[in-house]
Amino acid sequence: MPVDPIRSVAIIGGGTAGWMAATTLSRFFPRLRGGIRLIESADIGTVGVGEATIPPIIEYIRTLGFDENEVARRTQATFKLGIVFNDWTRPGHSYIHPFGPTGLAKRGVPFCAYWHKRAERGAAASLEEYSLQAVGARHGKFMRPVRAANSPLETITYALHLDANLFAAYLRTHAQAQGVLRTEGKVQDVTLRPEDGFIESVTLASGERVAADLYIDCTGFRGLLIEGALKTGYQDWTQWLPCDRAVAVPCERTGPLSSHTLVTARDVGWQWRIPLQHRVGNGYVYSSQFMKDDEAQNILMSGLEGRALRDPLQLRFTTGRRRLSWNKNCVAIGLSAGFLEPLESTGIHLIQRGIFVLLNFFPDRNFRQVDIDRYNRQLAFDYEHARDFIVAHYHLTERPGEFWQHCRATAMPDGLKERVELFRSHGRLLRDDRELFTVQSWFYLLTGQNVQPAGYDPIADSLSDEQAQLALDEVREVVANCAAKMPSHQEFIAENCAAAAG
Ligand SMILES: Cc1cc2nc3c(=O)[nH]c(=O)nc-3n(C[C@H](O)[C@H](O)[C@H](O)COP(=O)(O)OP(=O)(O)OC[C@H]3O[C@@H](n4cnc5c(N)ncnc54)[C@H](O)[C@@H]3O)c2cc1C
Repeated sequence: MPVDPIRSVAIIGGGTAGWMAATTLSRFFPRLRGGIRLIESADIGTVGVGEATIPPIIEYIRTLGFDENEVARRTQATFKLGIVFNDWTRPGHSYIHPFGPTGLAKRGVPFCAYWHKRAERGAAASLEEYSLQAVGARHGKFMRPVRAANSPLETITYALHLDANLFAAYLRTHAQAQGVLRTEGKVQDVTLRPEDGFIESVTLASGERVAADLYIDCTGFRGLLIEGALKTGYQDWTQWLPCDRAVAVPCERTGPLSSHTLVTARDVGWQWRIPLQHRVGNGYVYSSQFMKDDEAQNILMSGLEGRALRDPLQLRFTTGRRRLSWNKNCVAIGLSAGFLEPLESTGIHLIQRGIFVLLNFFPDRNFRQVDIDRYNRQLAFDYEHARDFIVAHYHLTERPGEFWQHCRATAMPDGLKERVELFRSHGRLLRDDRELFTVQSWFYLLTGQNVQPAGYDPIADSLSDEQAQLALDEVREVVANCAAKMPSHQEFIAENCAAAAG
């Protein structure tokens, strides 16, 4: 079959997913410009949350050719070096999942192996002290990486906290400048082609009919096209990720600007704190099986550090993913494709994956099944891997209470079980190259949640006790010296990307 290029794309939905898709497609497919149309409905609005990101967002900003400081200014953004988990492993405990690398392999021995060897003797410091990101986050510091040979200053890894509405508005300006057409309106009906069930057109409340070759469903939890019209089906992951509600509210910031997302475990679920330049985002994620909405709202509202800036927003969701992200001529991106829950800030990243994997397998009008199948396999892998990382947080705690006992009692997904068992035997960390979360991420998570290996990896014995100790001490000292050179987060923002007041 000769190639028959796509000439028109209809993106339904103008949240973070819709505008990221529109900006990216118009940037990479100039021949499609003028053929991309985004339909959104102000009456329906967006989900209104989704402000903490992970490091690939920086790659996204650079790939799109945006100036990072301008994005930060325009979205009231702050910088994030990791996530601090308070009371998560058990009440009173705190650990951090920092971004970026930790330590160095020494003569072929991985850092985690020789750290365990010394930790077994009580001779290793807390894992945090070996990560520049962790030390920076604990002290509210931030800087971007600089040239400094063999120094962790060269590999500082970070993400952003940003105002989701301002981010969508920023992207919209770019997408429209690149020729994307925007229509304000509500899609009321979806017509399928009788011969093959592909989407033929959507009809707006105004009566206007819009037809395209390819449809991108960015309608959020509704999944108007992928589910409403195509009945694709949904895999429910509530058995592993039991939270199904959230309440969110922004408040005034008091105190210095931190450079981490703060997560605090509660009797049922957990609370987030996301610092932006102009406010703090707060939310409480919980399970309706264990807590009532008004109780959750009271807990959130009574613990705010400053004045609430609007009424709390109540949200419902079912963790899981659409059985197929791409079905016929419709690709679901964003919440319409699935939702894990926000504990590790994976939502925007999965949007980014959905878009970039689509670029790799962009169809022609023949919609070859091989492209569709490969896309679906890749996205299934991405979602499942991210799910396992989050499930590990819930499963591996020592917290008391009915909710947490329920989380521990559920069997882990098979892949996760193997990973945890390997770590429990000799502290070994398993990773497939395509995975989002690094070996370091798993190391901090499992150690932070007090998963103890039975013994250290024998490969560490190729270093003597003295050599292992020297290597550890060196890393720790270099990290402390580098952290001392980092400016405060507040200073960094004031110097580089302070947003206009307001
Ligand atoms: C509680 C919670 C916390 C979260 N926190 C994070 C986080 O910290 N970090 C992170 O990365 N992600 C987070 N997420 C996920 C993140 O919010 C989403 O991935 C992101 O906002 C993208 O949403 P969306 O664009 O898919 O959907 P929405 O924002 O819901 O947008 C849907 C769009 O579709 C339009 N629409 C719907 N129906 C129609 C119709 N019939 N006609 C026309 N238009 C229509 C709407 O008007 C809207 O424009 C969180 C999500 C939740 C629920």
